[in-house]
Amino acid sequence: MASPIQFKKDIKRTEFLDPRNEYKLSEVETEIRYDPLTGSSSRICHFSRDKMPAPDLTEMVEASTGFCPFCPEHIDTVTPKYPDSFLEGGRLTHGDAKLFPNLFPYDDVSALAIISSQHFLPMDNMPVQALVDGISIAQEFFQKKDNSQTEGQDFYSMVTWNYMPPAGSSLIHPHLQVLHTSNPGNAIRREIEAENKYHAEHKRNYMEDLIASEKTTGERWVGSHGATEWFVPFSPTGIIGDVIAAFPGKATLADLSADDIREFSEAMNNILNTFTEYGLWSYNFGFFPAADASNSEKHTLYARIVPRIFVNPMTNAGDASYMQFLIEERVAMVYPEVTAERLRGGWKF
Ligand SMILES: [Zn+2]
Repeated sequence: MASPIQFKKDIKRTEFLDPRNEYKLSEVETEIRYDPLTGSSSRICHFSRDKMPAPDLTEMVEASTGFCPFCPEHIDTVTPKYPDSFLEGGRLTHGDAKLFPNLFPYDDVSALAIISSQHFLPMDNMPVQALVDGISIAQEFFQKKDNSQTEGQDFYSMVTWNYMPPAGSSLIHPHLQVLHTSNPGNAIRREIEAENKYHAEHKRNYMEDLIASEKTTGERWVGSHGATEWFVPFSPTGIIGDVIAAFPGKATLADLSADDIREFSEAMNNILNTFTEYGLWSYNFGFFPAADASNSEKHTLYARIVPRIFVNPMTNAGDASYMQFLIEERVAMVYPEVTAERLRGGWKF
């Protein structure tokens, strides 16, 4: 049966007399793509240089080391603890990772997971063990904390990450945001609603159909490793590309085995390394889960990595503007098919 998934796009063209080409008439193309699930649009335009110069982070890393609350000499004395009634012992340790409440919470349950005792973990060699420890400690937290308040309601176990300042991190020391919430945010809510509708119409799981389609055409496909399937979304999220890792047959973080987490982390290390070859050094990361205890009939757990940049390093101009903030329109400067080709080029599984 043919896939009901449609990849819809519009091509827009503008003409002007170009001062860079003796004021000859030039045509410039913009592409608008529509997410096949939600219909949300993204613009692909202002094509960027192939590789950006990688900045020297030494000064930023050194300057931030002295007063870091997450480094081993401070972490036990300046970070908060949960009451024993909520989490036995107040904090969690898993390998080299530590978890405790966020002093600046976003929700009822808003924790931080410090994934390593190392102050800085470089993106071109992100330790697989730090990723494993970070995801595992969050999984352990969701299981061990007092869950009596959430019974009988839809709650979401969320793990997200702002890595380095362009992605919105005020601290260099790598830390995950760990939320347990009845409100997973607009993006997840919209996707789950659209997936429920897709399932009602076609009696199929949207993500499984999307994976089959992407694998067949191949132009946005990256590769498979263990439980994960990696591809670049048709309608981009980030200005410089993004990538998705889907976990077919799984719906929430609780469904991931220790092997699944390790294999995912190995592939993520590989993807991050390839992104750094194009001068990237910052990203947002997050899992998109179904509500706790859901099965994977309608929603497949996936993770998304979105590289972030300063569009002008001289002025530290951010890569989000009125487009994303006011009119909720995504903008990308690289075609998803190009991002996929780059990631396939570095794929080692
Ligand atoms: Zn630190």
